[in-house]
Amino acid sequence: MDSALGPPEAMAEKRDELTPMMRQYHDLCARYDDALVLFQVGDFYETFCGAAERTARLLEVTLTSREDSTGEYPMTGIPVDNAESYIEELLEAGYRVAVADQIEEPGESPGVVERAVTRVITPGTLTEDELLASDDNNFVAALASADGAEPTLALALLDVSTGDFLATSSTSAEAIADEVSRFDPSEAVVGPDSSGDPLPDDCMVTPFDPDAFALERATETISEYFGEPDTLLAGDAEIRACGALLEYAEYARGGAESGTDEDADGTARNRLEYLTHLTRYDPREYLLLDAVALRSLELFEPRAVRAREDATLIGVLDETASALGGRALRDWLRRPLLEPDRIEARLDAVEELTGSVQTREHLHELLRDVYDLERLIGRISRERANARDLRSLRDTLAVVPEIRDWLADADCARLRELREELDPLADVRELIDDAVVSDPPIEITEGGIVAEGYDADLDDLRGTARDGKQWIDDLEANERERTGIDSLKVGYNSVHGYYIEVTNPNLDSVPEDYQRRQTLKNSERFVTPELKEREDEIVGAEERADELEYELFCEVRSAVADEVERVQALADALATVDALVSLATVAAQYDYCRPEITARSEEASDGLEIGIEGGRHPVVERTQESFVPNGAALSPDRRLAVITGPNMSGKSTYMRQVAQIVLLAQVGSFVPAESARISPVDRIFTRVGASDDIAGGRSTFMVEMDELATILREADERSLVLLDEVGRGTSTADGLAIAQAITEHLHDEVGATTLFATHHHPLTELADELPAAFTLHFEVEQREGEVVFHHEIAPGAATGSYGVEVATAAGVPEDVVERSRELVAENADEPEGGGLGPQADPQSRADEPRVPASTDGGCQGVPDDVASELRSLELAHLTPVEALTELDRLQRLLEE
Ligand code: ADP
Repeated sequence: MDSALGPPEAMAEKRDELTPMMRQYHDLCARYDDALVLFQVGDFYETFCGAAERTARLLEVTLTSREDSTGEYPMTGIPVDNAESYIEELLEAGYRVAVADQIEEPGESPGVVERAVTRVITPGTLTEDELLASDDNNFVAALASADGAEPTLALALLDVSTGDFLATSSTSAEAIADEVSRFDPSEAVVGPDSSGDPLPDDCMVTPFDPDAFALERATETISEYFGEPDTLLAGDAEIRACGALLEYAEYARGGAESGTDEDADGTARNRLEYLTHLTRYDPREYLLLDAVALRSLELFEPRAVRAREDATLIGVLDETASALGGRALRDWLRRPLLEPDRIEARLDAVEELTGSVQTREHLHELLRDVYDLERLIGRISRERANARDLRSLRDTLAVVPEIRDWLADADCARLRELREELDPLADVRELIDDAVVSDPPIEITEGGIVAEGYDADLDDLRGTARDGKQWIDDLEANERERTGIDSLKVGYNSVHGYYIEVTNPNLDSVPEDYQRRQTLKNSERFVTPELKEREDEIVGAEERADELEYELFCEVRSAVADEVERVQALADALATVDALVSLATVAAQYDYCRPEITARSEEASDGLEIGIEGGRHPVVERTQESFVPNGAALSPDRRLAVITGPNMSGKSTYMRQVAQIVLLAQVGSFVPAESARISPVDRIFTRVGASDDIAGGRSTFMVEMDELATILREADERSLVLLDEVGRGTSTADGLAIAQAITEHLHDEVGATTLFATHHHPLTELADELPAAFTLHFEVEQREGEVVFHHEIAPGAATGSYGVEVATAAGVPEDVVERSRELVAENADEPEGGGLGPQADPQSRADEPRVPASTDGGCQGVPDDVASELRSLELAHLTPVEALTELDRLQRLLEE
């Protein structure tokens, strides 16, 4: 147990003897025992005992101590005013932070100042702008399951800062794992029946109150927000996940602000009014991308460790002007569409915007002035917004009419629809304009916020204060005249208030009604009863004005909060316009074309059609001085391409570019090609390059087999499969055998559209045999012993591997290269080891599994039992992993 968490032992022993304040600290630590409690004492947040030692080390602040009659306790403090950066470090160190604020002014009531946890800050429930990436969502997830005919696993996802709330479920744990990697939550709340299995390592797992996951209670929680869950969600697992997640969000919000309701059982509830939508989706509504595909297609993170941050699809695509647009675009990329109608609607809009530079640029400029409305309205609703936030909302509303104007002539349905959805919220804007001054201070309790003319009482109070001040301003002149003392001065200081100062030589002329207040070296300070009266009047009026201003401000803020749904709808529309303008800008700037989307046939078995002319890799082309475009022609009867060519010739770039073009098309984006004709793909699978899971403790080969197993199990005719170098982590013969068996299986059984890059040349011969397979290769040229890459794809198989030449180019010493050449020449005299050479008999295919020739040859001198077992292996019916296990067993047998 971490000694920074829970009630400190040293205090627990003598809880009842502690001073009331220390007892308060102890009890809060006991109540929030999974969080590090920051305890406000005046201008500091203090921690004590184990927590103090830990924070002092982590945050590099001084460790002091505090004494009371029960003993001396280590103590560390961080300033309340800039606590955020410290809290960020605590989060990074893996802590949840419970912020216990003083919720009354010291002295307001007898006894110790009341304190309460006003928010629990965890990686998944951040709302502080300083701690959040502006252009990406930050999700907290909840997982729950339900037994039934088929056990179901549900995933709920909530971005507390924006109010985005999603739910899905599946009977397949893998499908849920894929959704988890899609949304990449930073924290997941789990109930009694979940271990947090499908969660990635960097996701904080938070066990939460098992009761919150109970079906009845979860149903109730959801009903309070959205009405009957049955109409919104599919199944008990989803209800349990969503209900628990809502409760967790309420818990994280803390229970001490106004608006707290007490539940029947006495627990404090703190509703998040801005959660107005819960969207249930089915993973099958979107193009499925699992963690491996997300990574290898470099959607959000570059694959190469040293690659530039922005060497990703989102990096080349994101020209959005606002945080709203940035998040929308990421969501589109995360969830590409399947429905041609929806794709076409986006494409229509992009096309239209591509047509007018002027519209695009003006919209972009206007959108730059759009604040992060989603987070803004969240803050307003949580009562954490100040007057400047309201003005920011107002400033955003002010640009909406202009944005509408630029869309006034739009032709396509989507843009016209968006124009309608862009509600300028004139009433809200007017309210803020009337109520809040244009450049208000940050503090909301010290006045100066509410505009003149908004409230008659406030104006009266201000009038009184102003009149009083005017009287005081005139006082100096009046008193000088009355007393004849020309050097008489009226001044103010914070201790004594207003005074009249008379220098010593003039003291004789001081009138009767002057009362002495203060004696200085060269002068005396006085007040008069009338001055005192006026001063009280001013101070009283000002104090009441400040209070009234705060009240009025809260009223306005709450009136704005009531419009949360309209603000969110506006935010959505603005986000969509921004994302569309961004896609159009990229399309125009980088010469993308509109893809033709072919209708989806009802029959999945009809397969896919992908026709690309002059296609480019959207990311590589940005870093490459000249990029060589390549086409692709894949259809149900030409659906498996075996691609050969030396290292560095462009195979993997080519495969990924085909997948990325398909993906972009389904996002509704134009694509980097001369033309593209694409039928929407259900799922993209990748097995690209070595993705060593060294941290996970698995060998490259195991990872590869694991990824392959998933592909073979789950792919179908509507899948696009990319395979790069299968079977490299084992002997050539094994590798080839596996590669070949996989090719056959994908071709004969799965029917997926497949691009397979390989070093195993015998596979090209296999491709010639299989009716729906064909070969492609990258031509290279040898010039004066050096390889020249043309990066141009062509039909047929590559003639050599050029490995030795590439080694030369890479600077491998000359003698090593020479020796390699000799060896290549020697080997060339022998038939290729383990190859499916010309000797393989295509006719044998129907009744015999096609196995590499070497398997038979290798049986010479092998004990009979092993040989016969080997012969009887039905390779075509084994999964790669089963095949390996079998090989391993036989090898052991041989060794015995
Ligand atoms: P392979 O998979 O055959 O080893 P890659 O696809 O990794 O080769 O390509 C190697 C390098 O060649 C890439 O990093 C890129 O710089 C360059 N390249 C690949 N394809 C092209 C192309 N079509 N046009 C220009 N350069 C390319």
